[in-house]
Amino acid sequence: MTLARQRSQNLRPSELLIPTPAGLYCPLADIHIDPVRPVARALITHGHSDHARAGHGAVLATRETLAIMALRYGEGFAGERQEAVPGVVTRIGAVDFRFVPAGHVLGSAQIVVEAKGLRIVVSGDYKRERDPTCAGFEPVPCDIFITEATFGLPVFRHPPAHLEVAKLLESVRLFPERTHIVGAYSLGKAQRVMALIREAGFDRPIYVHGAMDKLTDFYISEGAQLGDIRKVIAAERKSLGGEIVICPPSAIQDLWARKFPDPVTAFASGWMRIRARARQRGVELPLIISDHADWDALQATIREVQAGEIWVTHGEAEALVHWCGTVGLKAKPLHLVGYGDEGEAEPAGEADNAVAG
Ligand SMILES: [Zn+2]
Ligand SMILES: [Zn+2]
Repeated sequence: MTLARQRSQNLRPSELLIPTPAGLYCPLADIHIDPVRPVARALITHGHSDHARAGHGAVLATRETLAIMALRYGEGFAGERQEAVPGVVTRIGAVDFRFVPAGHVLGSAQIVVEAKGLRIVVSGDYKRERDPTCAGFEPVPCDIFITEATFGLPVFRHPPAHLEVAKLLESVRLFPERTHIVGAYSLGKAQRVMALIREAGFDRPIYVHGAMDKLTDFYISEGAQLGDIRKVIAAERKSLGGEIVICPPSAIQDLWARKFPDPVTAFASGWMRIRARARQRGVELPLIISDHADWDALQATIREVQAGEIWVTHGEAEALVHWCGTVGLKAKPLHLVGYGDEGEAEPAGEADNAVAG
């Protein structure tokens, strides 16, 4: 039995998509996907700053991603913009492009690229776990599946996010005098953590750092159920004992954080699986909450889309490529440079994230 679909003989994959220094390029349509440098025409999977950059001639993306880019970079972020409606085909040249939910952050999409019967899915960043703040990932059967591998090692297995949030709320109950400061990426993770806290029944106000209030307001305007969200006023930090404060990861070690009463520092990230990382960052309460597929979810997704060939963009590419080989799938790393600076990137990118978000 083979997992693979029967691939079209009419078109070589490199005619449809090729990796270039600027990002994935489609020669037949003359567009780039998630380009890392300014190009004439860009298709963008989601609003994290390593995928969505300012300065392109024209951008095609979902309505939410366009709005997020405008919030972060200003209305002039691109020469022209065009909205991609999920599920609806946009034809450029002889190529059909279709945006399909990726389950990563609000507005995030996979891009299905298809011509002459050859179908490649560019999944962008994605996760399979339920997220109350965005549409869930929809697997699309394809000939070639292009995947990230941020957490593509067997050590990365993310527990259910609601159990991690339960740990946070238990700590709040045990230490009612202390402020719980939760580091979370400004786009997506922060709002997901807030929504999960609400689902767990916590109904007091949740306080947010000023760097993330615009994006949080946007999520609320798009229907996220975040309850009573208040911006932290610097002068009032001393009075926030017992409260939950969400801030960019870079802020948990700042002087800013030390003005709260006896703070407990938490960090919501897939990297918190690695104890040494939590210690390094002075995180007392690591919360393993990720917006990326873990090792099991990467494998499950690869099996589900039934592609005969897997291309790995960034992250732990070698390990995932090796695994594909063990189950008889053709796979290769693309060595794309410039991704992983936000979302759940290496900590080096976080300062940038705090500014952008
Ligand atoms: Zn990314
Ligand atoms: Zn991302």
